[in-house]
Amino acid sequence: MFEKTKFDSKYSEAGTLVAGYIENGKQHCADCIHTKEKGVNICVHPVVLVDPELKARQIKSADGSVNGVTISLERGCCRFVKKPWRNPHKLLNYIASATKE
Ligand code: SF4
Repeated sequence: MFEKTKFDSKYSEAGTLVAGYIENGKQHCADCIHTKEKGVNICVHPVVLVDPELKARQIKSADGSVNGVTISLERGCCRFVKKPWRNPHKLLNYIASATKE
C-alpha cells in the first residue's frame, strides 16, 4: 500500500545525538523553562546535563556533580525546549476556541 520510506540523512534530527542541542538560532533557550534562571545561559535539563557532546560545557560543583551546561540563550535549542506557555490545557482551550462554530 505505502512504499517503505527509505531513511535519508535529510530526515534525521539535527544537533547533538543525546539532547539534540544545536545553535542555529531558529529557536531560543531564552524562551525555555529549563534555564537555571530566566536570562541565565545555563541549562539544568537532566538529559542535557549528561549529553557527552556537551561535556566541555558542563559546570561542576565541588563534589564533581554536573549541575549545569552552558548554552546560548539567543542561538541554542534542543528537543526538550519547553516554553512557559506550552501548557497542554492552554493548547486544548485554544484548539476548542479556534474550532468553535
Ligand atoms: S532548549 Fe534545551 S538546552 Fe536550551 S534551556 Fe531548554 S532544555 Fe536546555
